Amino acid sequence: MTKLLIFPIFLIMIFITGCAGGQVVHSAYQSVYQSVEETIPQDESLYEDTEPEAAFEITLAILDRSAPVHIEEAEPRPMIALTFDDGPSVYTSRIVDLLYEHGGRATFFVLGSRIDSRRDVILHMHSLGNEVANHSWSHRNLSRASRDSIYQELRGTRNAISSVIGYSAPLFRPPYGATSPLVREVAAEFGYPIINWHIDTLDWRYRDPQRIYDVIMSQAEPGAIILLHDIHSTTAAAMEMVIPRLVEEGFDLVTVSEALAYRYGEIVPGEIYGVGFERN
Ligand code: ZN
Repeated sequence: MTKLLIFPIFLIMIFITGCAGGQVVHSAYQSVYQSVEETIPQDESLYEDTEPEAAFEITLAILDRSAPVHIEEAEPRPMIALTFDDGPSVYTSRIVDLLYEHGGRATFFVLGSRIDSRRDVILHMHSLGNEVANHSWSHRNLSRASRDSIYQELRGTRNAISSVIGYSAPLFRPPYGATSPLVREVAAEFGYPIINWHIDTLDWRYRDPQRIYDVIMSQAEPGAIILLHDIHSTTAAAMEMVIPRLVEEGFDLVTVSEALAYRYGEIVPGEIYGVGFERN
C-alpha cells in the first residue's frame, strides 16, 4: 500500500519542480527583453505568435546587426599607451599612418612653438583618433620657472592646439617630466593632470631602432604609458617593428585618456601619473 502511494507522489513532485524551473528560465528571458526594449526600436510583428525562446533568438540576431549594443561586455584587452613628445616633426606622419594601419592610436605631447609650421600634421593625427596634448611652448624646465612663465607656457600651447582642431586634450606632460608644487598648482588651474610615464625608452639618447624595440617588448605590460619622441627618424623606424608586434601580442594601442580612465576611473587635475622628477 505504501509503495503504491509513493510513486504518484514522486511524479507530482517532478511536475511541480519542472514548472518552477520553467518559470525561472522564462523570467530571465523577460528581463533580457525588457532591457533590449529600452535600447533598440522594436518591430512588434517579428515577435507575433513566437515562443519566448525563439523570440530571444530573434532579439540576439537584431542585437548582432546593430553592433555596439551588447548584453554582456566582452573582457577588455590589455592596453598600452604610446606617447610621443616634442613634435610635431617630419617623422610624425609616418608614425600616425603606422598606428592607423594597425588599428591603434596614441597621444602626442606637442610643443606649442612647433605647431604653426605643421598644422597639417596636427590635423592628421587628430583626424585618425590620436590625442593631441600639451608639452609646454618652449620646452624649458618649468620646475625652475615663475608662476607667470608656467601659465604662459601652458596657455600658449593649449590655444595653439585649439586653433587647429578646436579642442586641446586636458593632459599635460612637463618637459623632462620635471614638476614642482607650483607646476602642479598651475596645471590644476588648467584642469590638467600631469602625465609622466612608466617605461622610458631613452630613444633620444640611443638612436637605435632595435634597442627601442627591445626595451619596449621586454617591459610592456597592461596599462603602461611608454615615453617616446617623434622627432627622431630612429624612433619612427622602431615603430615599424613595435606597433605590429604589440598588436600581435594582444595589446590595444590606446590614448593616455583611455588608459587612465580604465585604470583609475576619475583623473584628478594636478595629480602626477607615472614616473618623473619633482623638485620641492
Ligand atoms: Zn620633451
